[in-house]
Amino acid sequence: MSGELPAPKCPQCGADLVLGASGKLDAWSCPAGHGLGFTISEAYERLEGDEVHRIWQASEHAGPGKYACPMCSRPMDNVCVGVGSDGSPQESLDVCRDDEFIWFDPGELDEFPQGAPAAAPSADELKEIDQIRATFDHNLDDARVAEDNRGVMNRFANHVVAFHPGLVKLLDHAVYHHELDDMDETAQPDAHAA
Ligand SMILES: [Zn+2]
Ligand SMILES: [Zn+2]
Repeated sequence: MSGELPAPKCPQCGADLVLGASGKLDAWSCPAGHGLGFTISEAYERLEGDEVHRIWQASEHAGPGKYACPMCSRPMDNVCVGVGSDGSPQESLDVCRDDEFIWFDPGELDEFPQGAPAAAPSADELKEIDQIRATFDHNLDDARVAEDNRGVMNRFANHVVAFHPGLVKLLDHAVYHHELDDMDETAQPDAHAA
């Protein structure tokens, strides 16, 4: 099931989007320069946590916009959010809630100030992460028996995005490191797939 997905398509010209062409961010970008997109969890690499949170919350009540989702081709929701600390200017983005994917037209992402790195987690948050990981490790053992642990990981990540948005970045780190540690060389193709 994983690893065979077709490349996402540019919502404007339909070209295959290219992963990682824009620096260290794991973003999908159009080779013709029509913009770029990335997942909510990747968004924490570039945006402030509360910006990601605002985008996600705004998308809940947004109507469909002009673009089809690069991943699932259903209409994305057109979201208007204020950028910067005073909530202005307003920026218009497109979000697919099913794929947890955000699309930026050229220049839109630049409107967001380059954020300071996320603050270090508090002791309470670290405890919470440990608890989440303990649950996750347990589920992962079961899932190995079932063949596809990526599904579990994705469901788990979705749960965390929904309920603990601030922890996602840390968790990505913890989970994927954990995954890589465990995989050794038994199954490494596609380890980096979104
Ligand atoms: Zn394009
Ligand atoms: Zn979609």
